[in-house]
Amino acid sequence: MSRSLILVVDDSKSIREKLRLILVDNDFDVILRDNGEAGVLAALEYYPDLILMDYNMPEMNGLKASRMLKKYPQTRSIPIALFTDTEDIKNKVKSFEIGVEDYILKGIDHKELIARISGLLYWKNDRERIIRDKDKLAGLLDNFSDAVAIVDNAAEIMFFNRSAADRFGLVPEVIKAGNLRKVLPECEETDEIIMAVEERRELEELELEVERNGGVRIYRISVRRVQLDYTEDIGAAVFFSDITAEKEAEKLKAEFHSMIAHEMRTPISVIMGYSNLILDGSTGEISGMQQEFLEGIASNGDVLRKLVDDFLEVSRLENKFVNLDAAEFDLVELIEKTVKGLRLLAENKDLELQFNPEEESIRINGDSDKLEHALINIIENAIKYTEEGGITVECSRRDGGVEVRVSDTGIGMSEEEKGTIFNSFERLEKAEKKKIKGTGLGLAIVKEIINAHQGVVRVESVESEGSTFYINLPDLPDPDRSDRTADEAVQTAAD
Ligand code: ADP
Repeated sequence: MSRSLILVVDDSKSIREKLRLILVDNDFDVILRDNGEAGVLAALEYYPDLILMDYNMPEMNGLKASRMLKKYPQTRSIPIALFTDTEDIKNKVKSFEIGVEDYILKGIDHKELIARISGLLYWKNDRERIIRDKDKLAGLLDNFSDAVAIVDNAAEIMFFNRSAADRFGLVPEVIKAGNLRKVLPECEETDEIIMAVEERRELEELELEVERNGGVRIYRISVRRVQLDYTEDIGAAVFFSDITAEKEAEKLKAEFHSMIAHEMRTPISVIMGYSNLILDGSTGEISGMQQEFLEGIASNGDVLRKLVDDFLEVSRLENKFVNLDAAEFDLVELIEKTVKGLRLLAENKDLELQFNPEEESIRINGDSDKLEHALINIIENAIKYTEEGGITVECSRRDGGVEVRVSDTGIGMSEEEKGTIFNSFERLEKAEKKKIKGTGLGLAIVKEIINAHQGVVRVESVESEGSTFYINLPDLPDPDRSDRTADEAVQTAAD
């Protein structure tokens, strides 16, 4: 280990000499100066490990010289021990106030002097190591492309990396960057982040849009607790991953899928149109076998069209393209039409399909095409998952809105199963076992459509006895509330 260099500043030659002998004897290198100004210059030139300085010197005294040394960034961290003849409390306090590390009486025992010097050097090395570690950590975090802010439990920023500075306009030199709330946009997501920090919770996968320099960036936020020595909880690290490009790609992909699905609709319609034309005899007589084959083409075309429609609807809804084309219409009329269209499907399975409206006409505001789609999905399911008995559709006014109920006498489902059926691509095991065809998209679409109408859909069911799906729609949807999440549209029976 290299020897430590000590700068001794004293106007008395005999004291300088005495100190030099003691220090050299204890393996220190020594520089001597006889006045404050020369001491400051020597400190700037040699950057010693420690300065022993006389308090009382003519012109620039030890206190003045120390004040200067504690101001310069180059010398600020060199420990200074001031030497005096008398124990003057006032001077002692002043010295400590400007950052001097020790205050020593000249008559001190040699051994104690060396022990104090060793203590100060140990402390200096320790401090330098901490600063080095901190710089290393800061350097490491600066290389992260993610923005990182370390905050205390009141969300006051204690540290941030370069990426955070660039993205949120923080000034790296400013140690007190302020509260995290001030750097983030005013929105629900920011509230959620701050709340998680304050409540000492971790947070994952929250998306936040930040507008800066005329552009919008989307960040995926995670909040992690920060602990010192695995015990002391000092706050949280908030990570901001820029996912703008990812989101853009997702949107492009969704648009591409939607375009392909759209393009598929036309050829399917043409195939079905021609098969139906031939089937209804418009092109002349057809044989029994031709009729059978054509019916196969038409019914499979129908399945294909429904699949494409579901697919289109899901990609539209998932990408928040739920634009309701709302107008006033008669719900009873719409259900009648829907039931009529599905009657053949029910009859093919020898199931009864009834519609019992409570009133002749119930006018509501909504997107009749989308609501028809939702009704078809629910009634078709009722037919699909029922082997005996029948399906009853009812419609009545309820609590300032309307309620549509679709009951079946089918396979039903358990409490647990009820919780999952409204998720995309979710199918129950027994549907798979019974080889009943489906995509698991139908009810996800229903959920999105009903949500867009600010309504609620739920199911009550008893296994092997049957299910009832309830759709509750408010009378006149409030357009300002169409931003709620689709999950709000699903109620469990427990609600
Ligand atoms: P699928 O295309 O599979 O029918 P859905 O989203 O329409 O997709 O339905 C999801 C799952 O919910 C179905 O696979 C089925 O297991 C269950 N399900 C839906 N409706 C009923 C019903 N009326 N009776 C029993 N199970 C049903």
